[in-house]
Order: sequence, then C-alpha cells, then structure tokens
Amino acid sequence: MEVENDIILALDVLNRTEALRIVESVSDYLNTIKIGYPLVLSEGLQSITAIKEEFNCSIIADFKVADIPATNRKIADVTFEAGTDAIIVQGFVGDDSALACMNSAEKYGKDVFLLTEMSHPGASMFLQQHAEDIAKMGVDLGITNFVGPSTKLDRLEKIRSVIGKDSFLISPGVGTQGGDPKDTLKFADALIVGRSIYLSEDPKKAVEDIIGSIKS
Ligand code: C5P
Repeated sequence: MEVENDIILALDVLNRTEALRIVESVSDYLNTIKIGYPLVLSEGLQSITAIKEEFNCSIIADFKVADIPATNRKIADVTFEAGTDAIIVQGFVGDDSALACMNSAEKYGKDVFLLTEMSHPGASMFLQQHAEDIAKMGVDLGITNFVGPSTKLDRLEKIRSVIGKDSFLISPGVGTQGGDPKDTLKFADALIVGRSIYLSEDPKKAVEDIIGSIKS
C-alpha cells in the first residue's frame, strides 16, 4: 500500500457530510483513510463506498475483526464488497480466525492488517503480553501488514523485530494519545492520526504541521 506522506487519516466522525468535508480538506496531502465503527455504524457501509468513489483514496476498514472463522469471513466479504482496500483483524482470536479474513482478502484481491497490540493504556493489561506471539503468528500465516502502537516505542520496536524490515507496519496513537510522528517512523512505515486532524479547526494545516514535524 502506497501511503502518501506516510500518514493515514483515522476518520472517526459520526456524520457522512462531515467525513466528506474533512477528506476533501486533506486530499492534497493524504491518499489513505482508515474508517471504523463510528462512521459505519452511523452512516452505513455505503459511507466507505461514497468516500472511495469521490476521492479515489485507499480505504482501510478498522473493524478489529475478532470472531469465529465463519463469522469473520462474512464480515470481511461484505467489507470488501463495499470497496474497502484492506481490513484490520485482531490477532488474539487465533490463526483460524485470521486465516478466514485472509481467504476473503485473497478472493477479492485485497489486504489484511493484523493488529498486534493497541495504543491505549489498557492494552498493557492483557494484549501486550501476547503481542509478539501474535506478530509471529501473522508472519507464519504469511501476513505482511501489521498494526502496532506509537504510544509505546519499545513495544513498536519489538514488533518490528518480529515481523522483519520488509513487512508494512502502521501505527496509531500519534498526536492526541501522545505518540510522536518522527520517532514513530523510526519503526513504522506509516502513522495513523485521527483527532489531531479531524478535530482541528483547520485539518489541512494540521496535516501540514505533522508533515513538517516528520521532515524537521
Ligand atoms: O484519534 P486518534 O489519533 O487517537 O485515533 C487513533 C485511531 O487508531 C483510532 O481510530 C483507534 O481506533 C485506532 N487504533 C488504535 N490502536 C490500535 C489500533 C487502532 O488507537 N492498536
């Protein structure tokens, strides 16, 4: 996946008109949008299709899919049918569940991102202890796209060491949750940034500031 300026917008807004306005305002700089439950549960999967059609951007569906294989397969199939380019899948549910999403992605010619560890403080309670095993499982399955936290760079570095330099690692937690853009890119290939952009008075300027801090 070619991520322009190494920044993925996490579009966690609840309204399709607002979503389109924000994507429009950053479209000079960004070509990859992550859409999750907030927008899809409010406005339907069609909101993915609409944004994709209007801006011809790459869409990553952040559904953190975490069910039994048969249900994962259905979730991934309908998500790809809507025009999504990639889907984020939880690794903690095990290899059969992840494989069901991989099989769907293969059928549609799309991608799977495996979520290893999350960026919020509570992730240290359960998920962190198993994040490297989850990453290793992904490598063994042949997954080449991963998600890891920018809020804990030591953890991000460990996940990178497990998945290898050629895997594609995207990292949320930059900005509002405290992650630093430039430091995160020492280990990740692209940043996921939500509130620092979409809550800004001027989302375009917010993106320019992040790009500036990466280059500084
Ligand atoms: O607003 P903020 O920049 O903190 O948004 C981070 C985004 O990344 C949210 O959409 C959140 O759901 C997502 N995410 C995360 N940690 C993960 C995976 C996804 O924060 N491990």
